[in-house]
Amino acid sequence: MKPTIIKTGLRAALAAAVVVSVSAVAPAAVFADPVPPDVANKLAGRTVFVDPGHQGTGHGENLSRQVDNGRGGAKDCQTTGMTSLNGIPEHTINWNVAQLVKTALESLGARVVLSRPDDTGWGGCVDDRARAANASGAAVAVSIHADGAPAGARGFHLIVPQLPIPDAVADRVQSTEGLAATKAVRDAYVQAGFQPANYAGVQDGLQTRADIAGPALTRVPGVFVEMGNGGDPQDAAVLESPDGQLKHAVAITTGLVGYLLSANPAGTTGSAPDRPATAPDPAAPKSPAPSTPSPEDGGDLVAMVTRLLSPLTRALGIDDTMLTTQLINMVYSLAGMLSRPTG
Ligand SMILES: [Zn+2]
Repeated sequence: MKPTIIKTGLRAALAAAVVVSVSAVAPAAVFADPVPPDVANKLAGRTVFVDPGHQGTGHGENLSRQVDNGRGGAKDCQTTGMTSLNGIPEHTINWNVAQLVKTALESLGARVVLSRPDDTGWGGCVDDRARAANASGAAVAVSIHADGAPAGARGFHLIVPQLPIPDAVADRVQSTEGLAATKAVRDAYVQAGFQPANYAGVQDGLQTRADIAGPALTRVPGVFVEMGNGGDPQDAAVLESPDGQLKHAVAITTGLVGYLLSANPAGTTGSAPDRPATAPDPAAPKSPAPSTPSPEDGGDLVAMVTRLLSPLTRALGIDDTMLTTQLINMVYSLAGMLSRPTG
């Protein structure tokens, strides 16, 4: 069956329910195997650098120390980030979402490198983190942030560096692969029902800036997401809650997976004109078997939704009754993407 047909069926089945239980969607037996084997290797050999923006408070670093801004000047080493309406620091929201993105990507076989080890202490200046991304061999790097603006300013956006970037490699990579990865995450957000930001000059979910050092110093394809505005009651409610953080994580993961499966498919060594010449190549994949949808598989796609969600709900420690129709449909999109042949 085609994923679109199944998706329509699932949507119809769930249409009446605001809150549903995953166990109502698929047999409980599917929980026995966290992820089907083919999906568990889908991103084998791929590295993703995940940067939860900012850092915990337990450090003695000077945030205003001046560092390379990637454009011939200098800027502050770091900032503390915003605090949401109900007092949740941005660094914690970013950390929580990053942990879920990490869990989801690892359940698909990817190697994930984090920019900081915890949410208590230091995590490096902006230039340190860009260098760490470059050294990680990542196929894509994502910086996860949430914005602070007045109430009424709403929605997500992705920051793209103003071109040209002085560093020729960063310029080439961010204007091609980085932009493609960014648009893949933007599209996943839109498909999930998140609204593009209605402020700060954001157009179609994208904001071009010359004052963000990370993207200008990053030589692997970079995505810089501002998930929402912590100063807006509606955005803050999503950013602060575990199920809202899960929605953001699934949207980010879906975009990254879409990019990774469409660009530089694992196992290809052919023309990759956009690959940064001086950045380390992603680790050579262990020639994964080509994945094809099994013929029986309407039911398997639904089972895959459950299997993709299972490690995430475990990581969150939430009951599956907290899963909404919107979230299940989001994971359904991800499952459909993963079930398509690649390469
Ligand atoms: Zn931030």
